[in-house]
Amino acid sequence: MQQDEILTQLVTMSNHLGDPALDCAILGEGNTSARADGDTFWVKASGTELRTIDRAGFVRISFERALALLDARDLSDEEVKRRIGAAKVDPTTGAGPAVDDGVRPSVETVLHAICLNLEGVNFVGHTHPTAVNAILCSQQVEEAVSRRLFPDQVVYCGPASVYIPFTDPGVPLARKVGDSIGQYMDEYREVPKVILMQSHGLIALGGSARQVEQITAMAVKAARVLLGTYALGGPRFFSPETVARINTRPDELYRRRVLGEKI
Ligand SMILES: [Zn+2]
Repeated sequence: MQQDEILTQLVTMSNHLGDPALDCAILGEGNTSARADGDTFWVKASGTELRTIDRAGFVRISFERALALLDARDLSDEEVKRRIGAAKVDPTTGAGPAVDDGVRPSVETVLHAICLNLEGVNFVGHTHPTAVNAILCSQQVEEAVSRRLFPDQVVYCGPASVYIPFTDPGVPLARKVGDSIGQYMDEYREVPKVILMQSHGLIALGGSARQVEQITAMAVKAARVLLGTYALGGPRFFSPETVARINTRPDELYRRRVLGEKI
């Protein structure tokens, strides 16, 4: 795909995810990204809104410079901010809201670099859906997010979600997410589609912009279903065997192929 087309799709995906009707993000909540080429990606600039963001609201970042922050320990907040700013491919690019040192990449830039660095992941959408956060901010969060409830949840969102206990935003969160993705891939032998962060929100990882929207929509639906089950005695989860069968059944694989997913 042409880089221009990737950025166009990223803008459209972001505007869709920020649509108030979806109740996934309000004001400056959430951030999105897409792989531009082998070495760089676009990420939402700090202070922009998904609902209204345009091309100028994205900053192009070097994977190498963003990921190098994972190895740097004991940096002050100011130093992290400076290093994320220095990961911009061209410090003069991007318009967007006026900030003191030009357009500043999202504080979650390193997190996006980790996700986009995974095999088959080209677009990432991070939102704070109300239905998902009702669960992620609850007393029973660990049980609630631990299993799967219905077939389409497995098909679109994968056999399980990566769950991250509450962690400070920025580099500490990126490190934690990176480690947890590694553990998930050891267990399931595939790249995760959904990451759930306690008291924070959802990350959808997709091969395409459309897939990120589909994963987000299904994760929100699953959250609403889950909340409903707690009014009627609690969720009746699928067994790991049922999940594994749905995740590998030939007809489900066919559906994913129809949906355009790389498998
Ligand atoms: Zn967030």
